[in-house]
Amino acid sequence: MKNYDKLFIDGQWLPSCSGKSIHIIHATTEQVMGQVPEGTLRDVELAVAAARTAFTSWAATPVTTRGGFLDKLHQGLVARAEEIAQTISAEVGMPLKLSRRIQAGLPAAVMSSYARLAEDYAFEERLGNSLILREPVGVAACITPWNYPLHQVVAKVAPALLAGCPVVLKPASEAPLSAFILAEIAHEAGLPPGVFNLVSGPGREVGDALARHPLVDMISFTGSTSTGKNLAAAAAATVKRVSLELGGKSAAIILDDADLPAAVKGVLAACFLNSGQTCSAHTRMLVPETCYEEVKALIAEAAATYLPGDPFDDKTRIGPLVSAAQREMVREYIRKGIAEGAELLVGGPEPPEGLETGFFVKPTVFGRVTPDMTIARDEIFGPVLAVLTYTDEDDAVRIANDSIYGLSGGVWSADKIRAERVARRMRTGQVDINGAPFNLMAPFGGYKQSGLGRELGVFGLEEFLEIKAVQFKD
Ligand code: NAP
Repeated sequence: MKNYDKLFIDGQWLPSCSGKSIHIIHATTEQVMGQVPEGTLRDVELAVAAARTAFTSWAATPVTTRGGFLDKLHQGLVARAEEIAQTISAEVGMPLKLSRRIQAGLPAAVMSSYARLAEDYAFEERLGNSLILREPVGVAACITPWNYPLHQVVAKVAPALLAGCPVVLKPASEAPLSAFILAEIAHEAGLPPGVFNLVSGPGREVGDALARHPLVDMISFTGSTSTGKNLAAAAAATVKRVSLELGGKSAAIILDDADLPAAVKGVLAACFLNSGQTCSAHTRMLVPETCYEEVKALIAEAAATYLPGDPFDDKTRIGPLVSAAQREMVREYIRKGIAEGAELLVGGPEPPEGLETGFFVKPTVFGRVTPDMTIARDEIFGPVLAVLTYTDEDDAVRIANDSIYGLSGGVWSADKIRAERVARRMRTGQVDINGAPFNLMAPFGGYKQSGLGRELGVFGLEEFLEIKAVQFKD
C-alpha cells in the first residue's frame, strides 16, 4: 500500500482541507493499492498563492541554476526508477518490463533533456534594432491523464520550470502515485518553496478551478478532447494561454510495396502498446484491397503473440486496462463493431479465459471496417484495431485524413521517397515511417481536434515562454 495523506504546497507537506482521500485501484487485482488526498478549492487557492509568490524570484533565477535543479530531479527519478515502474504497472497495467523503459525511463530522459537545454537554448537574441527576450509566461497549471502518468507530468513540469514558471500540478485520479514520488524528489532537491506544488483531487473541481483562476497564467492539459474543450472554454474568461494534448485516431498506411509481415507486426505493436491506452496509438490500419487476404492471415499469426496476462510476469506483452469503467467502454465498442457489420478477425467482447479478475480485454482486430463505422471514427482507448482497405494512394490519404483527430500516423513502404511523399500529405503532428522510433526531442502534438501546441524539446519549452521585443534607438 502506498498512502499519501498530504499535498505538497509551498515547499511543505500539508493535509488537504477536505480530510478525504481518493483510493487507487490495482488494475490486475482490483484491490485498493493506495490513496492520495482529495484536494479542494481551498487547496487550489493555497497552491496558486504559493506559486504566485514564488514567480518573481524563480523567473529571475539564472537559467543554469534552474537547469541544475532539473539535473537533481533527473537523478532522483533515476534513483527511484524501479519503484516508479512497479507503481505504474500496478496502477495502469502496463507490463513491468515495458514500464521500466517507458513509464520510468522516458520521463527521466525527458527531465535530463531539459536540463541540457538550459545550456543550449538562446533565451535572447538581436533582431535589427530590437532585443528579443523570451520570458516565463507566469504560473502554469498542469493537468495530466493516467495512461503515461509520469511522462505526461514531466513533459510539462520540466519545460515549465526551465522556462521560469512555477507549477501547480493536478495529476489524474486513477494513477497519481508517481506524481507524489516526483514531489518527494522535488522536496529533497531543495526546490524553492512554491516553485512546484501538487494538488490531487477530482478534475471537475480542482482542474476546473485551476482553469478559471485569475492568478494562473497558463493551462497545460493532456487528456480527452471533450475535457480539453471544456477546459479551454473555462480558461477563455481570463485569456489564459492554453496548451492541449488531446485524443487521436491515428492511421498507419501500408503501401503496396511494403514488407507486409514487418508492417503488420509493427502496426499491431503501435496499436496494442499499453493495452491500446496510448493517445498516439495506430488504431486504423489501411491496406491495399489487393493485399487484404494476405494481411488477414498475417494479423492472425501476429495477434496470437499478444496473450493478456499479469503485468508483473516477464512473458506478458499486454496487461489489463486501467479501470472497470475503461474495460466496459472498450467492450461496448467491440460489441458495436460487430453490430455495425465489421469482420471480427481476432478477440471479442468477452473476458479473456482465466482472467476474470483484473480489467482485462481481449486484444481485438476488426477487418472490412468502413470509414463511417463507429470503430473507425471514435477513439476507443483500448486494444482494438480497425483494418480498412483502399484502392490507391490518393484514396489511402483521403481515408487517413478523414478524422476529427490529427495526432500521429504511420507509413510503410520499401521506397523511402514514396513514404515521405505520403507522410507529407497526412494532416497529423507526427508520422513514423516503417516503425521508426520515438524521438524525445521532436515536437509532439496534434492537428485538428488532437490539440493546440507542442510538447518535448525546444517546442515544448517555447509553450511556456512569452516573447518581448525591446527596441533601441541607436
Ligand atoms: P480526461 O478524463 O480528460 O482527464 C485528464 C485530466 O483532466 C485528469 O487529471 C482529470 O482529472 C482532469 N479533468 C477531468 N475533468 C476536468 C474538468 N472538467 N476540468 C479540468 N480538469 C478535468 O482524460 P483521461 O481519461 O485521464 O485520459 C485519456 C485521454 O487522454 C484520451 O483521450 C487520450 O487520447 C488523451 N491523451 C492524450 C495525449 C496527448 O499527448 N495528445 C496523451 C495521453 C492521453 P480526474 O482524473 O480527477 O478526472
